[in-house]
Amino acid sequence: MNPNNPLQQYFRQPAIYIKLPSQGKYYPSSTLDPSVTGEYPVYPMTAIDEITYRTPDALFNSQATVNVIQSCVPGIKDAWQTPAMDMDTILVAIRIASYGHNMEFGTQCPSCKAESDRSLDLRLVLDGLKAPDYSQCIKHGDMEIYLRPMTYKNLTDNSQMQYENQKLLQMLPTADAPEADKMTAMTAALLKITRITIKALAQSVALVKTPTAMVSEPEFIEEMLNNCDRVLFNQIRDQIVTLKDQAEMKPLHMICDECNHEYDQQLTLDMSSFFAPAS
Ligand SMILES: [Zn+2]
Repeated sequence: MNPNNPLQQYFRQPAIYIKLPSQGKYYPSSTLDPSVTGEYPVYPMTAIDEITYRTPDALFNSQATVNVIQSCVPGIKDAWQTPAMDMDTILVAIRIASYGHNMEFGTQCPSCKAESDRSLDLRLVLDGLKAPDYSQCIKHGDMEIYLRPMTYKNLTDNSQMQYENQKLLQMLPTADAPEADKMTAMTAALLKITRITIKALAQSVALVKTPTAMVSEPEFIEEMLNNCDRVLFNQIRDQIVTLKDQAEMKPLHMICDECNHEYDQQLTLDMSSFFAPAS
């Protein structure tokens, strides 16, 4: 920005300040620049941010999200390193800063199919977001396993890999192919998918402590997951899933006006619905 521009006072100002659920843990050093109080100012989106964010291209979306976060929350210098537990807080805060704290959304009763419009105070959503406790370790024999949240980069890479998995399964030979070919293709596909799953789990393991070693090298951890027994594997996987679920937004509990049917609706933070302007 040009410090001589007399129009500077008309530039956007921070609309709200947030605390990160992670309290800044898990970010590499120098990726964060908090205010003196430890809070982060959140600016409304510029017109360019809004256009960036609404470009409907799945591959482009993650980069757009990163660009918009770094534009609206300049205290986060590399949004790819954001731990998963902070993402909802940041996106909800940008939504509040840009369009206000009321969000209108549509709902349809799964029982009587009646449609209605509701509104939600996003400040309550912000207050309800909690950080999972990653300080507890998994104990297995004389081994202690410490987990860490995935970064936004990990999450993006994993959903890209999952997309490729689905393509892999779709490409399996059709019903009229010889039985042996089908088996070979299926086995190869499943093996590849298992490898990808293990890679994703390995990213969530920060440290393995044994009586004789402290191991944090991803390649060693991945090798252990490939070769350990299923009890240990499932113990690690289940704990990763539990911690991940704790960080996620709880679904909204809805009661139908027409038939009083009660149901849960998951609030989505995807580009098209969440960032459609409130106007
Ligand atoms: Zn109903």
